[in-house]
Amino acid sequence: MHFVDSKGILTRHGRYYGMNIYRGCTHGCIYCDSRSRCYQFTHPFEDIEVKQNAPELLDAALKSKRKKCMIGTGAMSDPYMHCEENLKLTRRCLEIILKNDFGVAIQTKSDRILRDIDLLSEINRSAKCVVQMTLTTYDDDLCRILEPGVCNTKRRLEVLEEMQKRGIPTVVWVTPILPFINDTKENISSILNECVRVGVKGVIDFGMGLTLREGDREYFYEALDKFFPGMKERYIKQYGNAYELPSPNAKELIGLLQRICKENGILSRPEDCFRYMNDLPEKYSQMSIFDL
Ligand code: SF4
Repeated sequence: MHFVDSKGILTRHGRYYGMNIYRGCTHGCIYCDSRSRCYQFTHPFEDIEVKQNAPELLDAALKSKRKKCMIGTGAMSDPYMHCEENLKLTRRCLEIILKNDFGVAIQTKSDRILRDIDLLSEINRSAKCVVQMTLTTYDDDLCRILEPGVCNTKRRLEVLEEMQKRGIPTVVWVTPILPFINDTKENISSILNECVRVGVKGVIDFGMGLTLREGDREYFYEALDKFFPGMKERYIKQYGNAYELPSPNAKELIGLLQRICKENGILSRPEDCFRYMNDLPEKYSQMSIFDL
């Protein structure tokens, strides 16, 4: 881990802003796209860059904006890695978001987010808060292989349940789905049934597959060799050097996901989920989450 003073903290994406307090990640997911070479890391991916002045930058940036909006965080590195336990930079940024009446859409795989649940609840009352969790496999043994540095699916579902109890809306990313590994009907229906049980607002999938590119591919193939002997060769035979690796079962799995979502009133088109997460309606706090 190393510390830097960053020049800026917010990046504009249309009607919302994105924020990454940390750069790099220690969760060790075998399929991680963020470690791809195109992101031009100048340090090892696990040597986390900490933007130590993030709270001050954020406070100044939010004070200068006239229109309130959503702040998205967690897209490129998890805001609740081990280091957050002591550094508390994510927490301080949430306090600043609350103080300035902005909303937040926060993405994590970690149960450390429960430490800040009171704060998230307050943001959801004063503006809007959406918590996003990734669930790729219902099998906790497989989860330990795919996402070794973070809590398992069972625990993530408990986190979603806690959010539900507080009325904090949640969105689940069912991605990536790895061909020949977690691309089964049983896996997708088990995850989706749990999403129904814990009342998620939306489910995001990008076509039931995986993307691989330089930097990410090498890391993934090493993990395949270690945990799934012979699988790398199967991937190379099926997909060559392709960027997009759709599951051979993609059509059936997408149909299954859409059917369960439709039957239970869950948003399932990515554009609907993103609109829901990125919009901050003026009267949100007076609306029921079920009206949005
Ligand atoms: S949590 Fe996200 S950024 Fe971190 S290793 Fe996993 S996929 Fe990569």
